[in-house]
Amino acid sequence: MYRSGKDIIRICNERNISIWRLALDEEIELTHLSEKEILKKMNEVLKVMKKSSESFIESDSKTLGGIIGGESIKLKKRMDNGKSLCGDIINKAMIKAFSTSQHNASMGKICAAPTAGSSGIIPAAVITVAEEYNLSKNEAVKGLLTSSAIGKIITLNATVAGAEGGCQAECGSAAAMASAALVEMLGGSPEMALNAAAVSLKNIMGLICDPIAGLVEAPCSKRNASGVVNAMISAEMALAGIESVVPFDEVVEAMKRVGDDMNSDFKETARGGIAGTPTGIRIKENIKNH
Ligand code: SF4
Repeated sequence: MYRSGKDIIRICNERNISIWRLALDEEIELTHLSEKEILKKMNEVLKVMKKSSESFIESDSKTLGGIIGGESIKLKKRMDNGKSLCGDIINKAMIKAFSTSQHNASMGKICAAPTAGSSGIIPAAVITVAEEYNLSKNEAVKGLLTSSAIGKIITLNATVAGAEGGCQAECGSAAAMASAALVEMLGGSPEMALNAAAVSLKNIMGLICDPIAGLVEAPCSKRNASGVVNAMISAEMALAGIESVVPFDEVVEAMKRVGDDMNSDFKETARGGIAGTPTGIRIKENIKNH
């Protein structure tokens, strides 16, 4: 059983395996399902992620709360016109992240990874990279298994809930999970994967949870788009051999302490931050009186 990043590195090195293999072996042990059965379930997860990440790409409709909508199609139009500032791969990932966020805010079926609010980040990262690098479904599933190991460590030692730790715990964890997945999908080592996860979490350390009107729409959807970019640049750094100065486990502990110290206005209560701005309050009142 692994309970920390340190455990992951030690066991992977001892057994000369990747993180995805470690996660799969533990899942077999815990669930008593066969490898084939677990991989079948993971393929179903991938299918749900793919659908949610594509369902709103061509849509300009609004969500149930009516705060967001149409972000994917706007980005796609800009990319199709050859005007992308960030390059196609980043743009494609952001488009997918927006689509899943909108799918979630429209009560569509998503895979909470690790939560509904941050559900756009992992699918956007894993599916975009699999498509751009011509990786098979199996490779994408391995990426999801890698991400699950990172999510497990964060859940055990801190939290992935915005109500407990702020958005750093949701979108930060999702980006950490996604970046580790990308590292392994692109041939990086377990050490590199944990460096990427640590950097992703550090990049948004302290980010509060402040959804307007308490709805998972704004600023959530844009944090999913920026979250997948965070994952990609963190993976890029790690694959280039750039290490996190502070090890992953210490970053997770720091994230927990920051979350514990956060005022409750910043933990999904929709009182502080963006939710508490005049515009945020006006939108909330409009929704209430509608
Ligand atoms: S702001 Fe809060 S509700 Fe929205 S994605 Fe972040 S943690 Fe989730």
